Amino acid sequence: MNPHEIGQAAAPPSLDPLPDQILEMGRAAIGMIADYYGTLQNVAITPNTTSRAVREQLDQEIPVEGEDFNVLLEHISQVIFSLSRHNGHPRFFGYIASSGTAATAIADLLASTLNPSLTSWRSAPAAAEIERQTIGWIKQIIGYVPEAEGLFVSGGSMANLCGLAVARDAKAPINVKSLGCQNLGRPMRLYISEEGHHSTSKAAGLLGIGHDHVRPVAVNSRFQMEARALAQLVEEDLAKGYLPFCVVATAGTVNTGACDRLEEIAEVASKYGIWFHVDACYGGFAALAPSKRDLFRGIDRADSVALDPHKWLYVPGDCGCILYHDPARARATFGQEAEYIRIIAHEAAEAFAFWDYGPELTRRFRALKVWMMLSHVGTAALGEAIERNCQCAQYFAQLLAKADDFEIMAPVELSIFCFRYMPPLIKTAYTTASPEQRKTIDQELNALNERILTEVQRGGSSYLSNAGIVGRFALRGCVLNYRTRARDMEILLDDVRRAGQHLRGGG
Ligand SMILES: *Cc1c(COP(=O)(O)O)cnc(C)c1O
Repeated sequence: MNPHEIGQAAAPPSLDPLPDQILEMGRAAIGMIADYYGTLQNVAITPNTTSRAVREQLDQEIPVEGEDFNVLLEHISQVIFSLSRHNGHPRFFGYIASSGTAATAIADLLASTLNPSLTSWRSAPAAAEIERQTIGWIKQIIGYVPEAEGLFVSGGSMANLCGLAVARDAKAPINVKSLGCQNLGRPMRLYISEEGHHSTSKAAGLLGIGHDHVRPVAVNSRFQMEARALAQLVEEDLAKGYLPFCVVATAGTVNTGACDRLEEIAEVASKYGIWFHVDACYGGFAALAPSKRDLFRGIDRADSVALDPHKWLYVPGDCGCILYHDPARARATFGQEAEYIRIIAHEAAEAFAFWDYGPELTRRFRALKVWMMLSHVGTAALGEAIERNCQCAQYFAQLLAKADDFEIMAPVELSIFCFRYMPPLIKTAYTTASPEQRKTIDQELNALNERILTEVQRGGSSYLSNAGIVGRFALRGCVLNYRTRARDMEILLDDVRRAGQHLRGGG
């Protein structure tokens, strides 16, 4: 090709629209956002569809020629939006899903418009400072130490992986970063309660520690880690020649919302010189709710903390966060020497690089939606919303306690509730049944409640997920939506009761 011809032809309008065209595209898209948030509470939570039906509507050959933007928006609205589960619905209680907000969705659009890469300060001065500032706010929210540093990552699983990677390197007697775990001579061991999240186990696998060296610690009747059981396991492992290196406490378990007593766990960790990591992915932001603040006492003693703004800070995914008490420890793990990333700068702040604190290099501007949420709503209103979520869960527990056909299966600590439907006759029989008889009844109730779960999910009015509570099947809900009201909890109870009565043939 003649070099003068290169770049002569303009990019097609589809790749490089004029400002007026961008405005038109944006108006149409923002109109969709307004419609979506305006009608969200009236739609069915789940589409009644199958994988085959979805594919039939979506499958297409790779497009060689482009398509008009409005036609594609229509496709997104008519097909993609309507064949989706709506996690922002006020009666979506499944898993731990952020409800999202309009302003943070728009912030994400603007973040993609500016499109900075948050590799280092130099690459994105203002965005890097926004990230530093929002991380600082998060430290304040949970009452963490001022000298800590951290960054946003894709989510809680990644945040836990980061914390455990730093823990491993800090506590290994050799330089595992260079030499690898195979040269340790004896296995390293990690402790987490039986109720802890599986991402810790996954991280242990990835870090060469091994799933078998993740020791589940017994819990008490409130599903909190037993500090004494932890100390006992550490002693046992030391006697056998293992290398205990880290304990993960959970501030809000996914099953029941239990918060381990952080001060007690911190004591054990410091007694044995092991790393203290707190998985606060679900519960952490409940520190904004005045009635829950005490649950997080002792978090300032953690060596690292994992959080998920894309849960209880209501921001859309993806957005996790890892905080390190001693940032130098993180640099020891993630710092790399490579000429093409060497920073030539005089000011330390300007030489700052996020790649020294986590595994990612190119990073999107996740901080903007967190900054938007905190700046636009403020911590007072956020704290009230979180408080209301917890009150909704408490209110549901009261409804269950008054009913003769339900059983609550775990204490409500934050905004998670676990329960099962129990036809009145069975409930009466259960109270006087022997342990053997109870086992039989439990099996019957497990099967019934599994079917109730499916029926409620299909119904589209309310959405629950499930949990295992001491070997029994539980219906499980989590209130994580600022739109959820007491009335929604009453509707949920009716939905489950109706499904239960229907499946029992009215009995
Ligand atoms: C959600 C959650 C995780 C995993 O976070 P992701 O953002 O889904 O990767 C880990 N631990 C706890 C306690 C959680 O609630």
